[in-house]
Amino acid sequence: MENNKLDEYLDYCLNRLAVEIGPRPAGSQANQTGAAFIGREMKQAGYTVLEQKYPCPDWRLLSDELLVNGRKIRAVVNTHSPAVEIEAELVPVSTADDIQEYDLTNRIAVLHGELTRTAFMPKNFDRNIYADEYKDRIIQLLEESKPGAVVLVSHEQNDMPLPLIEDSDLDLPSVTVHREEGLLLTENSGTTAKMKINTARKDSTGANIIGRWGNSKKKILLCAHYDTKHGTPGALDNASGVAALLCLAKHLKDLEIKYALELVAFGGEDSWFPGDALYTREYPPDNLVAAINLDGIGLKDVPTMMAVFGCSEKLVSRINKTAKQFGEYVQNQFYESNHGFFWPLGIPTLAFTSMESLESLGKVAHTKHDTPEVLDISLIEQTVKLAREIVEFWD
Ligand SMILES: [Zn+2]
Repeated sequence: MENNKLDEYLDYCLNRLAVEIGPRPAGSQANQTGAAFIGREMKQAGYTVLEQKYPCPDWRLLSDELLVNGRKIRAVVNTHSPAVEIEAELVPVSTADDIQEYDLTNRIAVLHGELTRTAFMPKNFDRNIYADEYKDRIIQLLEESKPGAVVLVSHEQNDMPLPLIEDSDLDLPSVTVHREEGLLLTENSGTTAKMKINTARKDSTGANIIGRWGNSKKKILLCAHYDTKHGTPGALDNASGVAALLCLAKHLKDLEIKYALELVAFGGEDSWFPGDALYTREYPPDNLVAAINLDGIGLKDVPTMMAVFGCSEKLVSRINKTAKQFGEYVQNQFYESNHGFFWPLGIPTLAFTSMESLESLGKVAHTKHDTPEVLDISLIEQTVKLAREIVEFWD
């Protein structure tokens, strides 16, 4: 592995995904362009490539406006929101009782307090993986009370709030507003607001791109998601991981590995994982000896974080010792990504991210600021080399 060539290839992949293709949410044309690029690269590296498709709507925001007393409020339209044009009274609610007590019919419900501390899960997300009955009940009550639209008040302090609802099966127009401006909306009851959301939506598909190499029955899986949230170029999250995956694809086959390789580029991690459950259903992971996920690596000026699940002590100490040769790695907890579909099945799992990548949500990750400038390619290169070494000595 010549260093400058690794650099060049990583840079090429990052540029292709995060600059030329740009935002690539599941279901979008750009997502499909990303999938085609990844498939081509895997094929060129000598892998047998298959595409695992699933239905997934293509939703686009065309325009939006929220006005209160003629003043524009900083709001983000929640992903998959239907279109709406409404002028109605704002009704602040902060508990399930409030929703039941107040007449919300054709008014604009303003959810705040406990109700908006965390995001709502879409209806089609598997409750066996994670469930929050209270929040599901809130959605049900909202549907029954038939508001004309819903405003959610973010708890975050970022410039722009992140959407608190991303559900293509929910027929309620909704936006998330910035904390400070949102709290103003809760103070004066009887205020009216004007909300105008224009969106386009059509049936579409997303896909997992799978690259296979080797004949051994037992496999090592390496994965990274290539989709993004809406409106973000997704350099850190997660062109970085895909670039590393494709770079590994080129440089793993020259090793003496006793296992077959299963490379998976997941297409909807940032849309509540439409492809992950399908993957484990269609390809039962009984023959996986390891799963290695790359998500959000290479953030400038911070160590790389490594989460380890179900590995023997001997293996962990070997991994840690090897990591020291390549750079600064910190072992820590990291649950919310594609590897969450593997370690609960008892598969020894490793996940790589950047130390601050979760803290960067709303500042870098999931925003328009997530561009290649936030990355240090040499850090991605370190992780490629480390992962390669780990795959080589995996027992
Ligand atoms: Zn990610």
